[in-house]
Amino acid sequence: MNHVTQAKVVQIVEHSKDIREYVLELEKERKYNPGSFVQLTLDLVTASDIWPDSRTFSIASYEKGVMKFIIKNVGFYTSKIFDELGVGNKCTIKYPFGDLFNKNSVNEKHLFIAGGVGITPYLSLVKYYELNNLLDNISLFYSAKYFNDLLHYGSLKEMLGERMEVFVTREKYSNCHNNRITVEDINRIADKETHIYLCGSKSFNQNYKEILIKNGYTKIYMDEWE
Ligand SMILES: Cc1cc2nc3c(=O)[nH]c(=O)nc-3n(C[C@H](O)[C@H](O)[C@H](O)COP(=O)(O)OP(=O)(O)OC[C@H]3O[C@@H](n4cnc5c(N)ncnc54)[C@H](O)[C@@H]3O)c2cc1C
Repeated sequence: MNHVTQAKVVQIVEHSKDIREYVLELEKERKYNPGSFVQLTLDLVTASDIWPDSRTFSIASYEKGVMKFIIKNVGFYTSKIFDELGVGNKCTIKYPFGDLFNKNSVNEKHLFIAGGVGITPYLSLVKYYELNNLLDNISLFYSAKYFNDLLHYGSLKEMLGERMEVFVTREKYSNCHNNRITVEDINRIADKETHIYLCGSKSFNQNYKEILIKNGYTKIYMDEWE
């Protein structure tokens, strides 16, 4: 059963002109798995109301009391969020959704592949693996156009060290790969038993899903993004 609660914005971090991190304090909390996502609406409604226009966002945090979202302003509703949802304002969220996380496989090998804002669900997943001393079971490939586009680079690097590899595709940057993620990169880290997660734009996910299937990988997981 999904849970509906109102939430107040307590902080907004401006990562760039079109990417913001929203920190929300929930009126009523319930347990959720890392990697889950919510439906967020600007309307203030309850569970018994007809659910209004909303959009889907991954939960970027895994801690009690607050929930963080990283939102990229790409179209109609996200620009409405940027215009109308300020510090002190409220919105309504319905959650949790999604089944990226599987508790039965946490002791097996995972490769998380992120494109741009697609890093968001991994922020809560990596935190879960850290809290449970399981970081050795995951690797992260994080691809972005420019180094400065990388979100939470410092904290991810601190948790993952060499287990995180960064791919910067539109500029040369030291200590990063300066190319798109290739199948050779994936083969270097993964074998056919590795659980491979994909999160990026629709074309990013589609492209890597095809590459993975063509190369014999079967344990592929993704939540579709716009
Ligand atoms: C499981 C899941 C998790 C998600 N998590 C996040 C998250 O954590 N953060 C985040 O920012 N987003 C996330 N998204 C995506 C987010 O829900 C969408 O970005 C959002 O729905 C876009 O809504 P919008 O009304 O602003 O854009 P819309 O106006 O609905 O536009 C949607 C897309 O169409 C494109 N588009 C719009 N108009 C045109 C046009 N005329 N011609 C061509 N293209 C056009 C836009 O550029 C955009 O990419 C997630 C999606 C899913 C499914």
